[in-house]
Amino acid sequence: MVFKKIQKKFKKLRQQLIDWQPSLSNDIGIDLGTANTLVYLRGKGIVINEPSVVAINQKTGNVVAIGHEAKRMLGRTPQHIISVKPLVDGVISDFEVTEEMIAHLINKAQEGSRKFLGPRVVVGVPSGITNVEIRAVRDAVRSAGAREVHIVEEPMAAAIGIKLPVRDPVGSMVVDIGGGTSDVAIVSLNGIVQSQNLRVAGDSFNQNIISYIRDEFKILIGERTAEELKIEIGNVIPEKGKVVEVPVRGRDLVSGLPREVIITDTDIREAIASSVDSLIETIKRVLESTPPEILSDVMVRGLYVVGGGSQIRGLPEVLKECLKLPVYIADDPLTAVARGTGIILENMEQYQDVLIVNEDELSQKK
Ligand code: ADP
Ligand code: MG
Repeated sequence: MVFKKIQKKFKKLRQQLIDWQPSLSNDIGIDLGTANTLVYLRGKGIVINEPSVVAINQKTGNVVAIGHEAKRMLGRTPQHIISVKPLVDGVISDFEVTEEMIAHLINKAQEGSRKFLGPRVVVGVPSGITNVEIRAVRDAVRSAGAREVHIVEEPMAAAIGIKLPVRDPVGSMVVDIGGGTSDVAIVSLNGIVQSQNLRVAGDSFNQNIISYIRDEFKILIGERTAEELKIEIGNVIPEKGKVVEVPVRGRDLVSGLPREVIITDTDIREAIASSVDSLIETIKRVLESTPPEILSDVMVRGLYVVGGGSQIRGLPEVLKECLKLPVYIADDPLTAVARGTGIILENMEQYQDVLIVNEDELSQKK
């Protein structure tokens, strides 16, 4: 009891100290994505942009590499080293590894500008995740050294990042096509009016490509090759008078030996067609359940697409055609969420309402 009182007093004193001298602590925004983790440092901008991959030595349990270096190792490690993606479907699947990754990135972000106190952190989570999952993110960020953790839903952060008028009484629609999940959301008056999260996004396209090439060409390719194919020649509508072909090497399923085949953009289009369809169906469902006033805002103002998956060629044209709405791919779509967390940090007072309130804080306030 006494200890709790002292602890509370200490917390208050520390807050007063920070309010009086903000330079005692860093403010950090984190976009903890399934594919990429970005870190925004207040006053500096985005200082880290690395794949969410960690390589671990299974013999010692030590982390061997994080980010780009670990991603390069994916599928190419000796037996005792495993490369893991600690986030699956937008949520933490491996708590300890996620925590190590965050700690590493927070440290790296503050290199050369480390402060007396741990940082205040704003972190994005996919819309509609459970309280338990939110708590896991909060705990991981806190154990990684954060002094304060604030949570914002990613589509909200993205909307702020691309400067949509989220605080006005007007509906804005954002679709975030990430690696593991896509988020479809409509925001207005600091809140999410309607949202759906689906497990179809950039990584599903990779898996679709692997399955298609296995079924059609009887060769097995790795995930990295599939992703390269998608980025290099993938599109969702044919480009006029142009057929793109590339040679692809994989393992022949019958002989077990390496074999090369020629893949075209038509193959990729067919491979990912059903995933693109389910994405469009989800957007339609969200539109169908949106109140009419907001729907009319969206019809006029259009739909904004962010996230790495939005970069697949032809996507805006297809969405426009199927949804009968103006569609815009945001500038620099991969950094929208991180930029949003940055804007929140720089204007914390103004953006209080967009943050998800912590149950612990609620009970403390009572
Ligand atoms: P997350 O938020 O889940 O970490 P990102 O927004 O970083 O995801 O997007 C990662 C996804 O975007 C990956 O599946 C990646 O393959 C895909 N991606 C990145 N660039 C392109 C591109 N030029 N064309 C198609 N897909 C891309
Ligand atoms: Mg994301």
